Amino acid sequence: MSIIDEVLKNNEAYAKGFTQGNLAMPPAKKLAVVACMDARLVVSKILGTKEGDAHVIRNAGGIVTEDALRSLVISHYLQGTQEFMIINHTDCGMLTFKDDDLRGRLQKETGTDAVEPGRFFAFPDLEANVRQQIQKVKSHPWSPKKVPVRGFIYDVKTGRLREVAA
Ligand SMILES: [Zn+2]
Repeated sequence: MSIIDEVLKNNEAYAKGFTQGNLAMPPAKKLAVVACMDARLVVSKILGTKEGDAHVIRNAGGIVTEDALRSLVISHYLQGTQEFMIINHTDCGMLTFKDDDLRGRLQKETGTDAVEPGRFFAFPDLEANVRQQIQKVKSHPWSPKKVPVRGFIYDVKTGRLREVAA
């Protein structure tokens, strides 16, 4: 059985006990999170949030890309979120390679270059990366000035979040 078939079975069981069908669309805690896609981060468990509480925008690295900005803008202006949180983490895969090396490898393996993705956003310094993501949100012309943007490093060994000063 493929993994997808396996998780579909899990979903059958989940749907049988499902009781959260009447939640409102806007996040109840008015929180939006940008986090790395790393499988060790289960954001709702880390933050103690439930269904309907927060928007969670995830990608490789927890990077404020154009698409993450798109989601944050929608999250605030259309869904009313009032605080933005960025979560990177220790032992991130994005610390383990360089954009140019991956691009070169892909060109070699596939025999072709590609316009997109234009960048992979690999980074060598976790704290500096978090500060850069905060800046990317804050410096955007549509960034809501009243909305706090705070950055954190999640420690995959301890489960603890540590704030990075902006
Ligand atoms: Zn990561």
